[in-house]
This record gives sequence, C-alpha cells and structure tokens, in this order.
Amino acid sequence: ALEPYVQTRIFKIIVIGDSNVGKTCLTFRFCGGTFPGKTEATIGVDFREKTVEIEGERIKVQVWDTAGQERFRKSMVEHYYRNVHAVVFVYDVTKMSSFTNLKTWIEECNGHAVPPLVPRVLVGNKCDLKDLIQVPSSMALKFADAHNMLLFETSAKDPQESQNVDAIFMCLVCRLKAQR
Ligand code: GDP
Ligand code: MG
Repeated sequence: ALEPYVQTRIFKIIVIGDSNVGKTCLTFRFCGGTFPGKTEATIGVDFREKTVEIEGERIKVQVWDTAGQERFRKSMVEHYYRNVHAVVFVYDVTKMSSFTNLKTWIEECNGHAVPPLVPRVLVGNKCDLKDLIQVPSSMALKFADAHNMLLFETSAKDPQESQNVDAIFMCLVCRLKAQR
C-alpha cells in the first residue's frame, strides 16, 4: 500500500540583530551542525533549511539569515518579515552596543506588522568569550522579561555550548507546533 501523502509543514524563522553578532554562524550551527571558518557578510536574503522530526511529524525549519547594516538590506527587508512564524533577536554578549540596539530591531519588527502571537526569543551569543563579557545575564534577563521573550545565552563557536543553539530553534518549533 502507498504511504498516505503528508505535506511537510514549513516554519519560517528569521534571525535579526546587528552585524557581526554571529547570526550567520548560529544559522550554520543549527542547520549544518558546524561553525564556519569564515563567513561572508550576508547580502540581502539568505536562508538555510533543516528538517526535524518531533512527535512523529517531520517539519521543515527555514532559517532566514539577514544582513545587519548592509545597504542591500532596505530593499529586501519586506521579504524577511513576510509570513514569518518566529523571530530570533541576537546580540553579542561582548558588545554592549549590539544589546542597546535591540530596541531598534524590535521597532523594525513591530513596524512590519508581525503579529503578537509570533514567538520572539532573545539570544546572547559569543558566551565562550568569558573575559570580554559586557552584557550581564541579569540585564539581558530583565530586558527579555520586559519584552515577553525567552533568553538563551549561546556560543555558535564552542561545540560544548552549541547544544544551546539547537535548543533555541527546537524550543520555537515546539511552540509553533503546539500553536497550530
Ligand atoms: P553576522 O554578521 O551576525 O552574520 O555574524 P557572523 O556569523 O558572520 O560572525 C561574525 C564574527 O563573529 C565572525 O568572525 C565569527 O567567527 C565570530 N563569531 C560568531 N559566533 C561566535 C561565537 O559564538 N563565539 C566567538 N568567539 N565568535 C563568534
Ligand atoms: Mg551574516
């Protein structure tokens, strides 16, 4: 007998934040399981996919990697936000300005009419650089709380910490799966 045809659901997750915070590395880490030796500044829109299986359902996770301050961004920005299922805001724990700039990214996101039901998470990346930390966890937690987001502190680089990178996306996928 033929297997019944089941449409694989696709969840679109966008990763946003300042340039150089590690958005591309996080995307690679989740989709490819590795830390890239070298990343090109992302031009426009770029996405990678990974198929995960949860409770017997196969789900295609489409991670949209965005370019921070690049001049190409403006014309592409509409595409990022269209039909988005979840948003990942990233800052660099060793760079305070990437944390204070989050409010700009949140404004941009809200400005594109992303519905309130769309889950948002906050990610402090580069936790492996322990001696250089500028953004204390307590400060990030407070911010995450105020914006109704979960906080993850990760390192896309350190394989030990990279477990946490998977956790970000799997947490979102579970929430989305339960939502719809
Ligand atoms: P993007 O501009 O946000 O996409 O940032 P990239 O992913 O291109 O990373 C910017 C730089 O930060 C690169 O040199 C990466 O190797 C480095 N980087 C990214 N993630 C980490 C991390 O978790 N720890 C450390 N130490 N460096 C990282
Ligand atoms: Mg990039």
